[in-house]
Amino acid sequence: MDRSQPKSLPSALQRLPEFERRLEGKKAAVFLDYDGTLTPIVSRPELAVVTKEMRTVVERLGELCTVAVISGRSRKTVQEFLGLDNVIYAGSHGLDIAGPGGSGLRNDIGREFQQTIDSVHAELSQGIIGIEGALVEHTTYSTTVHYRLVAPEKAHRVEEVVDRVLQGYPSLRKTHGKMVWEIRPRIDWDKGKAVLWILDALGLDSSRALAFYIGDDVTDEDAFRALKGRGVGILVAESPRDTSATHSLRGTKEVQDFLEGMVSLLKARPQS
Ligand SMILES: [Mg+2]
Repeated sequence: MDRSQPKSLPSALQRLPEFERRLEGKKAAVFLDYDGTLTPIVSRPELAVVTKEMRTVVERLGELCTVAVISGRSRKTVQEFLGLDNVIYAGSHGLDIAGPGGSGLRNDIGREFQQTIDSVHAELSQGIIGIEGALVEHTTYSTTVHYRLVAPEKAHRVEEVVDRVLQGYPSLRKTHGKMVWEIRPRIDWDKGKAVLWILDALGLDSSRALAFYIGDDVTDEDAFRALKGRGVGILVAESPRDTSATHSLRGTKEVQDFLEGMVSLLKARPQS
């Protein structure tokens, strides 16, 4: 096979001194994916609970700079799992954004799709009956079909159900993630657009802030692309893969170490 290997990216952990220089005179904004970034990928979606240590470091970072968690999950689920009230939550791949209480930061862009999603969710739940291990998770303005627990030789049946059901929903599309099919509105909105919207809403343009985005999955690539040339995209992956990120971390432990590094760096610098 003549496939070129994706090149390995510099470790974000080792580049903290460089980020410190790039942050001079600027604010930091840190965007975090949830599953696979703040928690290891688990067999069942309801088990993805963050550790006390990870929660603490995200909370401390939220006291020092803008922190937003952007997930394909429902905003409420991520909010419950993380349980912090000093960060911005964006659920449904950024279709449902809310800042901390009193901030007034809100974008409910997915609302017009609510009924369509409820309906496709019901049809998919019905459709997967009989495929052992398949799960459908309602993620408010999107819905996620999990097949991690489906026998590999039966996984194609899950996609067949998704394709058959989606034929009745021209306003929806499917995207592929880690052992999931994600059903999303067919609109020009993704995690990248959500990141740029949040930065703009907070007046954090690139002359005033350096943005970091940390994520592990395909949908995070939209955010890495959005930050190209104006921020730092950090891929969480054990081994190199094709990506638009510029830096990498090897797993959730390194994510925690990096966030701890950011906390120290932001605490040490003179107040602006
Ligand atoms: Mg993820």
